[in-house]
Amino acid sequence: MKTLTKEIQASITPTMALDLLKEGNKRFINNLKVNRNLLQQANETSDGQHPFAVILSCIDSRTSVELVFDQGLGDVFSIRIAGNIINEDILGSMEFGCKIAGAKIIVVLGHTKCGAIKGACDYMEMGNLTALLNKIQPAVYAEKSVLENRNSSNDEFVEKVTAINIKRTVDAIMERSPILKEMIKTGAIGIVGANHDITTGRVSFYDETLILTSETFADEYQNPPLQLKAVDRHSPIALRI
Ligand SMILES: [Zn+2]
Repeated sequence: MKTLTKEIQASITPTMALDLLKEGNKRFINNLKVNRNLLQQANETSDGQHPFAVILSCIDSRTSVELVFDQGLGDVFSIRIAGNIINEDILGSMEFGCKIAGAKIIVVLGHTKCGAIKGACDYMEMGNLTALLNKIQPAVYAEKSVLENRNSSNDEFVEKVTAINIKRTVDAIMERSPILKEMIKTGAIGIVGANHDITTGRVSFYDETLILTSETFADEYQNPPLQLKAVDRHSPIALRI
């Protein structure tokens, strides 16, 4: 697996970036890790980095994205915070990763059995953690299908809140970052939410959150014919801005 250069990065489309992550996760769950010389990669990336993805994930010690997607040094920007929430600083990091450093896709990656989600489900309060969990709370309120045991003892409830939190985060990135929204709209980058099952290692991408605006599609967006105004979040190539 080659260390990413500016030229290689430039040749990767958002669709290819997503495929690279899917292939990496496939290797991970099949225990077929690519043999990398990390020391050599450290040397090769010392003068600059050209990662192809920005991945926002949880701090959970079982969810390192470089391992889960079988990536090496210089391949991905990894932003980690409990409950994979966003704030101004995280949005700034994403804007740097995409607009300045050239990454091609943003992934919001949640995971099963997340302690932060469980804490929010239980309305846990403690020091500075309270403010962090408050950012997950809207997902708890938005989950309305589970009527009993709406707390961390109910796995179904926790997993449903996890999925809502991932999708809300994807939406919030576009709502709160005009820079990233514009890049998504023009097809410069893609965005997608995903969930990592920590028992199997498998990452499931949420197709309904995926936005990969092809260049042709982006051109049409500038001057959309009537039929393109319909929003289809379930299409693999979806436009919902
Ligand atoms: Zn977590």
